[in-house]
Amino acid sequence: MAEGPRRAGIMGWPVSHSLSPKLHGYWLSHYHINGSYEPMPVSPGDLAWAIGALASRGLCGVNVTIPHKETIIPLLDSIDDEAKAIGAVNTIVVDAKGRLHGSNTDAYGFLENIAPRLPASREKAVVLGAGGAARAVCHALRRAGFKSIIVINRTRRRAEELARWFAGITVVDWPHRGEALADTDLLVNATSLGMTGKEPLDLDLSALPKSALVTDIVYAPLVTPLLAAAQARGNPVVDGLGMLLHQAVPGFAAWFGKKPEVTEALRTHVLGGAS
Ligand code: NAP
Repeated sequence: MAEGPRRAGIMGWPVSHSLSPKLHGYWLSHYHINGSYEPMPVSPGDLAWAIGALASRGLCGVNVTIPHKETIIPLLDSIDDEAKAIGAVNTIVVDAKGRLHGSNTDAYGFLENIAPRLPASREKAVVLGAGGAARAVCHALRRAGFKSIIVINRTRRRAEELARWFAGITVVDWPHRGEALADTDLLVNATSLGMTGKEPLDLDLSALPKSALVTDIVYAPLVTPLLAAAQARGNPVVDGLGMLLHQAVPGFAAWFGKKPEVTEALRTHVLGGAS
């Protein structure tokens, strides 16, 4: 008997801004897969109901985004080691018995995105920000073997919480962010500064070695003021769109049975809808 279309989607509140439907829609069409991926606005109060109904509604899984990435955990049957290490879930797979398995693919997406430019020297990384995305970035940097990870956040308390979560992180105060860039091999902006509609990140790059890789996880605009400034002084840079594209790969593979490729055509397609 022919199987019906496989259905997945993204739950968030709000969710209308998400590029994930466009991204998964491209792959579904590119690989001629009989399936769908829908935006699903789910308020915090409706999350338990919506997650409980996944299997009965015939969904094979979902992504979850802000504000559900942490509150979803007690609603799942299992979470993988990556999600445990980060303390958040962004991908859920419904198995044949209707059980729900959570994973976190943000660290994977971050690393895959910078992998071609990852510096050979991994002595020191500096991460600006201490929100949910910074947590995934710090986990990725530890996995990549960085010996020293410095976290700098406007609100020091949040940076300290992150340092308690991952042993071996050093916290530097926000006003000292410029000085902290000396001897850095990798600089990551994991704040929302530089995003369209937000103020740019105010950062003096003069202490940063010219060999340091600079990456921004903000992807709208694609070239943030930080990336433009780093590029102008000769640093290698990687934009944040690839993180979004790569983090989607494991979910698509689990739901639709095909490991999709991140290509220039996909980037162009997704950017076409981002403006
Ligand atoms: P979040 O939990 O809300 O954290 C926001 C971070 O930005 C915090 O560290 C916050 O500092 C800092 N920040 C905000 N306004 C600031 C200001 N005026 N001055 C200094 N710091 C400021 O958000 P998130 O989930 O971590 O996401 C952060 C950014 O990453 C967002 O732009 C998001 O779109 C992007 N992102 C991209 C990807 C991707 O795939 N490329 C994935 C996830 C997230 P305080 O703690 O002091 O408030």
